[in-house]
Amino acid sequence: MIRLITTKQLKNLMQWETVIGLEVHVQLATKTKLFSGAPVNYGFEPNTSVSLLDLGMPGVLPALNLEAVRLAIKFGLSIAAEIAPISIFSRKHYFYPDLPKGYQITQHALPIVKNGHLEIALADNELKRISINRAHLEEDAGKSVHEGLGGLTGIDLNRAGTPLLEIVSAPDLNSAKEAVAYLKTLHTLVRYIEISSANMQEGAFRCDANVSMRPAGNNSLGTRVEIKNLNSFRFVEQAINYEVNRQTKILEQGGIVKQETRFFNAQKKATWPMRIKEEAEDYRYFPDPDLLPLKIEPELIAAVEASMPELPAAKQKRFMQQYGLSTYTATLLATDRELADYFEKVTALAANPKLTANWILGELAAALNRDNCNIKQSKISAEHLADLIRRIADQTISEKIAKLIFVKLWNGDNKHQTVDELITKKQLAQINDKDYLNKIATNILTQHQKEVKSYQAGKKQLFSFFVGQIIQATNGKANPAVVNQLLHDMLF
Ligand code: ADP
Ligand code: MG
Repeated sequence: MIRLITTKQLKNLMQWETVIGLEVHVQLATKTKLFSGAPVNYGFEPNTSVSLLDLGMPGVLPALNLEAVRLAIKFGLSIAAEIAPISIFSRKHYFYPDLPKGYQITQHALPIVKNGHLEIALADNELKRISINRAHLEEDAGKSVHEGLGGLTGIDLNRAGTPLLEIVSAPDLNSAKEAVAYLKTLHTLVRYIEISSANMQEGAFRCDANVSMRPAGNNSLGTRVEIKNLNSFRFVEQAINYEVNRQTKILEQGGIVKQETRFFNAQKKATWPMRIKEEAEDYRYFPDPDLLPLKIEPELIAAVEASMPELPAAKQKRFMQQYGLSTYTATLLATDRELADYFEKVTALAANPKLTANWILGELAAALNRDNCNIKQSKISAEHLADLIRRIADQTISEKIAKLIFVKLWNGDNKHQTVDELITKKQLAQINDKDYLNKIATNILTQHQKEVKSYQAGKKQLFSFFVGQIIQATNGKANPAVVNQLLHDMLF
């Protein structure tokens, strides 16, 4: 039988696919600005880190900061991109109080980095390759300040001229979750290769999200909306989800999505139109006559390449192969370069990677988290932790006692003692001596005749009661595995 459906029902049957491309602005960790010698500072008195150039004074010429170029190359190499032998700085014109020159210097037609990619892990650990179309150097603008000025607007130009790398992904992301995974991977990477603090509160890593919808299976792109200036992973996720719902509703009612720029209101968790998107020609781009084309010699690329650290993805794979760690554990350890170094230092000394990983991601991570510090500020050195791991592994101490020692070391009570000295002095060594434990077990069983009878009559849960009694009788020092074995032999 053939059933007819209305157009409306047909529309409702249509599946929509989300398409996202991200533009990420990463502030490069240079000492001075992109084209002036003014220092790059954050949180300073307004207008104290500015030169005549940043103020837009006439007759002052820009001079390119080579360190920013090196950092851009470093990024390009880390995403297996092409480094352009020649790239060009252009002027992008717009009029806004925080841009005194009346134009921003940016790379337009010929960016320094082209055609790279980044692999992101999806929820099921499957990898997805995201193309990065380009990354270009540009200067940041200043800031308008509204607070505490009695209704007036102030201009702070400390940020003006700060070097940014704008990293532009292809529209390869298909959900808010994928967008966040991409951003987190990118965030880890730029910190790893030390090109940026990527501090999101300070605006050193911020994102514009382009979002469109299309019928599933369709290859052409739908009309996109650009959401500006998202500065947390959570906001990115919320803004995209809001936009996906909004656009889907419009499309399902047969409407069309307007191409526009919107901003995200974090309180309302909603996006609002900001302005109709400028056409490229509104900016009147042209090559900056004050700056020569940037020519990059292979020698410079080779020098930067020689300074590259092992990248997070490579480290993670190596941790799995070399140390037999799970994907999950290897990812957690490799995500933070210093944490990974700490892990390898302990492992080199204690030769027990799995136990070490457990301790770092368990006890140590909890302590760091509680005291709100990073691994560099750890109160337990890699050497101390290695000693502890060794003594657990050779059964000198139980994990329980090890935790006790860990707390003592963390609190600084016994900072100047080795783990072994502590174990001896505080008599913390585990008791593995079978004869000795046998005597204690016999004693305990004699004292608890009634329970032994119940046990033998089938009340098997009493087993752990006996174990507990013996361990208690040794002040927690009896080796539970040995006790278990002994009791097993005695009760059967
Ligand atoms: P523009 O030159 O206008 O900035 P680009 O082509 O450089 O546009 O793209 C800017 C960003 O928008 C890129 O991250 C790209 O992936 C993304 N993008 C472009 N078209 C779409 C679309 N239809 N849907 C989602 N994202 C898009
Ligand atoms: Mg753009």
